Amino acid sequence: SAKAEGRRTFRFFEPEMDAVAKARRQLEFDLRSAVADHAFEIHYQPLVDLGSGAITGCEALLRWRHPTRGMISPAEFIPIAEDTGLINEIGAWTLATACSEAATWDADITLAVNISPVQFRQPSLALLVASVLGASRLPANRLELEITEAVLIHDDDAALSTLTQLRALGVRISLDDFGTGYSSLSYLQRFPFDKIKIDRSFVGDIGTAEGSSAIVQAVVNIAAARRMTTTAEGVETDQQRQILSSLGCTQMQGWLFSPAIPAAAFRKLLASHSATCAA
Ligand code: C2E
Ligand code: MG
Ligand code: MG
Ligand code: MG
Repeated sequence: SAKAEGRRTFRFFEPEMDAVAKARRQLEFDLRSAVADHAFEIHYQPLVDLGSGAITGCEALLRWRHPTRGMISPAEFIPIAEDTGLINEIGAWTLATACSEAATWDADITLAVNISPVQFRQPSLALLVASVLGASRLPANRLELEITEAVLIHDDDAALSTLTQLRALGVRISLDDFGTGYSSLSYLQRFPFDKIKIDRSFVGDIGTAEGSSAIVQAVVNIAAARRMTTTAEGVETDQQRQILSSLGCTQMQGWLFSPAIPAAAFRKLLASHSATCAA
């Protein structure tokens, strides 16, 4: 019978599903203690001006040093942190730590921090940002918050109100991973952004496929018309850098210049880079 069949099918998959669920529960459990055990660290990736070659900013990227599994990618643990709500605590820690760190640098560069859609929906987000800025003494105009289009699709009014509150504090807002997911050009019309980050998927084949440079050019033109800057993500080759520069893109981020590195190494990079630029 169908019922017996169903039961048989269920049994067939059971051990495998059980293993997946178990691994996931274990990771959830470990993530909970990671917050308490200070197992997170922040790495910084430079953002480089395409015109001058100077480092004009950086992005804070979260790293989790798991006690037995080593470094776990944020692509793996951020979704779990979002499902469990732990992202609010982790995100607040990341924001506070990155701002305090950046405030001590001897360089007038921006700091970009990723804000999860779950954090973005917290009505207290602007209050948190204000208190972190106050405590760290990082000037508000040096902080950029990176959000994705996912935060804009559900509740336009709440999203607009949060964006307005954040911009009233003087912080900048970047639209991350532009061109993926639910991209709509109308978001650029309705919401105030300071910067568009062009997703790595467009940058990756910019030197090989005809289509991508036309798309990047279109985004750069729209951004310029709306007084926004553009950052190309995932720049890995000098050819990509040259094309992006000729298209009028403002900034680049990618392994061509540097991956995300620990705070101490980033501080050294800033010092040696500004020395090179001055020479
Ligand atoms: P994202 O915000 O788009 O960050 C850029 C990602 O591209 C980073 O991956 C960075 O290491 C990677 N990347 C940079 N240059 C290159 C390149 O030239 N080639 C390639 N292949 N990749 C490059 P990462 O650090 O693994 O982070 C992945 C994602 O996890 C981030 O994407 C962001 O969405 C999320 N994430 C990271 N840190 C945080 C955080 O503190 N809070 C939240 N909510 N999300 C975070
Ligand atoms: Mg980002
Ligand atoms: Mg991105
Ligand atoms: Mg991305």
